[in-house]
Amino acid sequence: MRYDFTCAKCGGNQIEEVVTNVSVSSVVIEIYEGGEIDYGNTSSEGDDCGEILYQCRDCGTKLEGVESPDDLWDYFASNWGPIELSDGGCIEPPELNNGTILRRDVHGNTMEIREVSDDNYPEWLDMFTA
Ligand SMILES: [Zn+2]
Repeated sequence: MRYDFTCAKCGGNQIEEVVTNVSVSSVVIEIYEGGEIDYGNTSSEGDDCGEILYQCRDCGTKLEGVESPDDLWDYFASNWGPIELSDGGCIEPPELNNGTILRRDVHGNTMEIREVSDDNYPEWLDMFTA
């Protein structure tokens, strides 16, 4: 999914991943105009205490408590609440159900709407970030 981030300090909206104390090598699969690269297998060397952190790309303000890609996901997803529907039901965010997006009707019955493996799953995630 595309994330929606605004730095509290500078208003920047890109997050940068920084890995320290470790050297990383990646297979370059494709390169595009402007230097965008698709990477293949990535391997790391060095001591195992490589640290990973996420920060505002513009001013370097660290995202507190975010130390892994999982944390980063939680950083966004933990703020998602259910989306209320006009019939009294709601769409539940994936965090509650191992990634599955459920619809809960007014009686509390649930119905699976999208699973992580579904093609347009990312579009459904975008609903929560809108
Ligand atoms: Zn910033």
